[in-house]
Amino acid sequence: VSNSVTVLGLGLMGRALARAFLKAGHPTTVWNRTASKTDALVADGAHRAESIVDALRAGTLVVVCVSDYAAIHQALDPHVEHLDGRLLVNLTSGDSRLARETAAWANNHGAHYLDGAIMAVPPAIGTAEAVILHSGPQSDFESHEATLSALGTVSHLGADHGLASLYDVAGLAMMWSVLNAWLQGTAMLRTAGVNAATYAPFAQQIANVVAEWLPRYAEQVDSGSFPAEVSSLETDIAAMEHLLAESQAAGVSTELPRLIKTIADRAVAAGRGREQYPVLIEEFSRSSRP
Ligand code: NDP
Repeated sequence: VSNSVTVLGLGLMGRALARAFLKAGHPTTVWNRTASKTDALVADGAHRAESIVDALRAGTLVVVCVSDYAAIHQALDPHVEHLDGRLLVNLTSGDSRLARETAAWANNHGAHYLDGAIMAVPPAIGTAEAVILHSGPQSDFESHEATLSALGTVSHLGADHGLASLYDVAGLAMMWSVLNAWLQGTAMLRTAGVNAATYAPFAQQIANVVAEWLPRYAEQVDSGSFPAEVSSLETDIAAMEHLLAESQAAGVSTELPRLIKTIADRAVAAGRGREQYPVLIEEFSRSSRP
């Protein structure tokens, strides 16, 4: 079934979104602050809205993807009466507070609202590789899921509008932590003449093994009970000392090894040394921590 869709914002990402809707056969209306960016899409079959009001009038489903939330308000605040009855799917990057505020704002003007996060680059949009997260009322997601699926692998995380942003940044924490850990090892091995490409398959294997631990460790976090099933924090700390000493001896950065050990040391000082690694959730869950 082809459903019509409006795309507001035709930057690098907005253009990719509009193109994917068109390719999937959905009648697509486009609007951009700088009107010339609509030309190529119109040539490919998109309908040009002459104004943002015309864009909002074109159909129920309105996907917005602009630089930031301030841009959304700059564009839409003067025309809020036209939001009534629309489903606004906001794929602009932001944080959970902004998502929840914008949901309340949209609801106040009679619109349904889903907040989204795009975990992909524009060339991946329209392929299964593009992961797009949504949060907000499940019924709003389900009623337009078929159309939104033109963009990639879409999922619904829950009713709280802040969830898409929270998952987005949680994913970034994972990504940067894995990359930093890999770079630490690479820096150490290079001092022994091992190049990055030689070490990479080993690093990849370790990352995969650790990833396998997550479901069981998550059960420990959720139950609040951390028996040392495979190793205790005290045992881990001895290995952390090796990592730190080797980094020092190799003359590479000790920042990351020191951070790893500092967090674990605090948990040991708090009497948690005989428990398993996920007990550190308590160190991560306090805002009084550095
Ligand atoms: P671009 O800089 O390419 O495009 C920005 C868009 O926002 C343009 O359409 C611009 O309009 C519009 N805009 C900015 N300010 C206003 C305003 N005051 N009123 C109306 N429109 C405005 O950015 P991207 O397309 O790359 O990114 C868009 C969003 O997608 C961002 O939130 C980004 O974080 C997110 N995203 C992007 C990814 C990427 O790889 N590019 C990946 C994942 C998420 P104009 O043409 O008139 O300037």
